[in-house]
Amino acid sequence: MTGHPAYGELRQVTPVASVVLENNPGSMTLDGTNTWLLRAPGSSSVVVVDPGYEDEPHLTTVLDTAPVELIVLTHEHPDHAQGAPWLASRTGAPVRAFEESLCRSAPPLTDGEVVVAAGLSMEVLHTPGHTADSICLRLAEHPAILTGDTILGRGTTVISDLGAYLKTLRRLMKEPDGVLALPGHGQELPDTATIAAEYLAHREDRLTQVRNARRKLGPDATARQIVELVYADVDKSLWAPAEWSVKAQLDYLNSHK
Ligand SMILES: [Zn+2]
Repeated sequence: MTGHPAYGELRQVTPVASVVLENNPGSMTLDGTNTWLLRAPGSSSVVVVDPGYEDEPHLTTVLDTAPVELIVLTHEHPDHAQGAPWLASRTGAPVRAFEESLCRSAPPLTDGEVVVAAGLSMEVLHTPGHTADSICLRLAEHPAILTGDTILGRGTTVISDLGAYLKTLRRLMKEPDGVLALPGHGQELPDTATIAAEYLAHREDRLTQVRNARRKLGPDATARQIVELVYADVDKSLWAPAEWSVKAQLDYLNSHK
């Protein structure tokens, strides 16, 4: 880490992707939510991915960068999606997401769809696991994938459906070398396929640990009891979200006997 993260500033990461960090740090949001602004060089308008909370200072920074042509949500969680109606009502930009109820003046995103806006072509990958509606966005012009909360800049993410998540990681592992991962929280990572492989190895380790813990504690062990055993190395502030992930792992073990 290089000093304190700068809130309210636009930071250019690739020739087509810049980020504004929202001032909402926390155990789940890391330094805060990354709001991504995408545009081809020379384009007068931008695509905003994940406006963040309805946080007026943050959204005003976003609003002041350039006319907003389109708002895209990587998933339904409020630290990504809540500010979308605010931004849409001030810009007239449509809102697109995989989950239909989040969309405004536009249809839901579909897997494999190529969205064209702000001079860019962006391919939608439906990548469920963190949530059922999670998507990634692949930028063709400069090889990068916006990963939302499917892959984070550090640590690991909370899982709601482990079977779906493992499939998602295997899909991202097939990306060619050198595709940047641009996450919803934390710093960008140099290689999406490598980080997806690391996440998969971590998930398999945790699954073995959960399986062993259940053997030790008995079949009636609660998710909380398993967390206390398996996540002893993790800060206690993360035990509540870890419990959701353990529930997802127990569901997975029960359906893959
Ligand atoms: Zn998030």
